[in-house]
Amino acid sequence: MNKINTQTGNCLDIIPCPRCEGGLLVATLEGFETSADNQTITVTDVEMDRCDQCGEIFLTPSGSERVDDARLKHQDQPNQ
Ligand SMILES: [Zn+2]
Repeated sequence: MNKINTQTGNCLDIIPCPRCEGGLLVATLEGFETSADNQTITVTDVEMDRCDQCGEIFLTPSGSERVDDARLKHQDQPNQ
């Protein structure tokens, strides 16, 4: 039983939205607003999936890594 059935499921390019369950998530690169050190910062070019129906966004693992990184850098700096 070593065969892997690739005919069902595994449509990695099409992810249904877990929020509205009707939309599809589309990968995109966008600015993302978050808070760091009681301030709002905008991180540019964050990798995320956006629902084409409800507009909900879900950060990808590398996208959230980028946001975390930006928050850490922001906290390292004195007031700009
Ligand atoms: Zn949705």
